[in-house]
Amino acid sequence: MTLTIDQEDDEKQLLRKSVSDLANKFGHTYFRELALVDGRAHELWEALADGGFTSVNLPAEFGGGGAGITELTIVCEEVAAAGCPLLLLIVSPAICGSIVSEFGTEEQRQVWIPRLVGQAGRRWKMAFAITEADAGSNSHRVSTTAVHKDDAWLINGSKTYISGVDEAEAILVVARTGFDEERGRGELSLFVVDVDAPGLSKQLIPTEIVAPEKQYALFFDNVAVSDDRLIGTAGQGLRQVFTGLNPERITGAAMLNGIGRYALDRAAEYARGRSVWDVPIGTHQGIAHPLAEAKIYLELARLMTTKAAHLYDAGLDAGEAANMAKFAAAEAALRCVDQAIQTHGGNGMSREYGIASMWGMARLLRIAPVSREMILNYVAQHSLGLPRSY
Ligand SMILES: Cc1cc2nc3c(=O)[nH]c(=O)nc-3n(C[C@H](O)[C@H](O)[C@H](O)COP(=O)(O)OP(=O)(O)OC[C@H]3O[C@@H](n4cnc5c(N)ncnc54)[C@H](O)[C@@H]3O)c2cc1C
Repeated sequence: MTLTIDQEDDEKQLLRKSVSDLANKFGHTYFRELALVDGRAHELWEALADGGFTSVNLPAEFGGGGAGITELTIVCEEVAAAGCPLLLLIVSPAICGSIVSEFGTEEQRQVWIPRLVGQAGRRWKMAFAITEADAGSNSHRVSTTAVHKDDAWLINGSKTYISGVDEAEAILVVARTGFDEERGRGELSLFVVDVDAPGLSKQLIPTEIVAPEKQYALFFDNVAVSDDRLIGTAGQGLRQVFTGLNPERITGAAMLNGIGRYALDRAAEYARGRSVWDVPIGTHQGIAHPLAEAKIYLELARLMTTKAAHLYDAGLDAGEAANMAKFAAAEAALRCVDQAIQTHGGNGMSREYGIASMWGMARLLRIAPVSREMILNYVAQHSLGLPRSY
């Protein structure tokens, strides 16, 4: 396999440039101002979707771009590098799109993928709901249940921190449909639930993250879904979820890489232009070296992200690389943002310079979709063969 981060073929370079040109027409001021007034990045999403970028990884036979996670990674990185990191790009096409494409029946794919692409008269987004307050990082403990009764599944329970529910038309919900006594674990299944399904309610969770997408707690009170809303095999949900979690980690890493680029670009520009002792501040190694270091970590993270995307698209095991990419990208992006703030001095904290407003998103992606510590657990156990610690 050739790792071609600087030698992308013409098609990928064109994709990168097209997304970058489009997203830069919106830019960070658009993104931040919307977030501050509680607005949604609807125009940006629609413009990206019109260009086919939000469905670049979905199967061509149902109207998608027919490309892979590598291409979606380019989209996520360039949108973030323009100062507009969109969480729903990670959720809707990366997680939900990947899971429905891989595990949906032919009929389900025919229904859902054209909707995600926007070919069914109206364009849908799909949120993803696995996290529960009590289960936390331990997905085996998911306690929201789905019980089959007559010809429907009845869902009961709650979810927390679910992104973009108010922008989505449907939610891919992970629910428990059984219990494996031998392993002491819940058997999980995946259901597509309409956001306006009777019995489903939501409550905003205010956060300090500057983002147009908002987070919600969800409450399911006998929410009925028909059999055709079960995606894949009942009880195999966690295995199926893992198919979506690698794209989530890889595109999350790409988003972080874009945030890192955004911050470093601004920091370097500022360090070249600002003089307080007759020379540009970038002349001082106290400013230049940390930026150079951040650049090195960022490029390493981009390389691992590319590797993870290539492995995933080649149908190979991408778990280790996806985890490492997300870990490395979160650390690199936070380093870039922090050093960009430092480089700007007092201006680093201003709204005008648009650096500090990126911190919350980068910081979030160190916690979600999988935390730094759970990645270290994974690497310790799976890469180093150390005993499981939890
Ligand atoms: C803004 C935002 C958006 C989100 N969007 C979504 C979404 O769209 N859909 C969705 O399903 N979820 C979403 N989440 C939830 C997110 O995925 C979880 O917050 C994350 O997985 C961590 O789970 P937790 O918050 O329950 O932390 P906990 O599991 O309670 O962990 C708390 C701390 O303990 C550490 N820890 C836990 N277990 C171990 C262990 N065994 N070893 C070492 N350390 C450990 C963790 O790393 C963490 O630092 C979102 C969260 C936020 C904040």
